[in-house]
Amino acid sequence: MRPLVAAIRLAHLRHNYETLKTIHGGRLLAVVKANAYGHGAVRCARALADLTDGFAVATPAEGIELRQAGIENPIVLLEGVFEAAEYAEVDAYRLWPVVQTQWQLESLLAHPWQRPVSVWLKMDSGMHRAGFFPHNFAPAHQALLQSPHVADIVNMSHFARADEPDHPMTAQQMQAFDTAVADLSGACSLANSAGILAHPAARRDWGRAGIALYGIEPFPGACADLRPVMRLSSRVFAERTLQPGEPVGYGAAFVTEHSTRVGVVACGYADGYPRASGNGCPVTIDGHAGRIIGRVSMDMLTVQLDDHHQGVGSEVELWGDRVSVAEVAERAGTIAYELLCNVKRATFVYQE
Ligand SMILES: *Cc1c(COP(=O)(O)O)cnc(C)c1O
Repeated sequence: MRPLVAAIRLAHLRHNYETLKTIHGGRLLAVVKANAYGHGAVRCARALADLTDGFAVATPAEGIELRQAGIENPIVLLEGVFEAAEYAEVDAYRLWPVVQTQWQLESLLAHPWQRPVSVWLKMDSGMHRAGFFPHNFAPAHQALLQSPHVADIVNMSHFARADEPDHPMTAQQMQAFDTAVADLSGACSLANSAGILAHPAARRDWGRAGIALYGIEPFPGACADLRPVMRLSSRVFAERTLQPGEPVGYGAAFVTEHSTRVGVVACGYADGYPRASGNGCPVTIDGHAGRIIGRVSMDMLTVQLDDHHQGVGSEVELWGDRVSVAEVAERAGTIAYELLCNVKRATFVYQE
């Protein structure tokens, strides 16, 4: 079998949830959208079901998948519905929709609900992507409050720059939010992972933890007590020794200076390893530091072997415990979120 393995440490996931909940206080949603950031939504949700106050997903289909797998906790749909007819599924599966546009509001009010629905009403407090402007928020809130179908309302907003702890924008967004909800009823929810860890004033009734739940710091130094949930590893399955001055791989992007042992690892960009991070990117090989040489191909990448490394059969950590996915992402000009979401073709091994 191809040796590319994504080990998912569910105990780390539980530890991270408990750590974040303690820091945030109140109630905390475990964000498991996008297949739990690539970790496997159903497995992660089952592992958290007895701990969490609820889950958050992006789409109705993601919420329904969890319900059909037997998950009974509250499930928030972070983008709400994409067409009015989906409120029938929201109703049938007891999902909690976000309402962030006028048409979502009007079609929710017009829907013939079978049971009362909990609504998360989203404000655009400055990010300018989604939500009601502060001056339109109270009328939307009022309309929901008057509906006999609405069980309760959570007032929510989302930060644009919470992962820059010293940036004033987060405080400005909080002020816009607080001013607009000052006279309104309902619980409040502001903080994503970075908000929870960097901005104590953003910790309200409900937090929404995504990336930190998977053990990744949303900014350097955010929290020393997070444990990476995914460890992506593979093995060296071929080895050759090259003389000085020989090229390696596509584009001859690496040329040996000395006699060099080159190991070929079963992992490439079709598995989600970023081609752009390539040459020089750190890995561990048999637990010792190593690095990628040459370009990452679709199905393989090449590493430099030294005396600490066995060669064929050597275990290679691509990210996880010793190699941080954030560093690999940074070298590729992107963020850990994208790399985690992109892992495919690996064997997922769930460890309790
Ligand atoms: C994805 C998402 C989150 C989680 O964000 P992290 O940065 O991963 O913690 C929180 N809130 C909303 C609205 C989201 O879409």
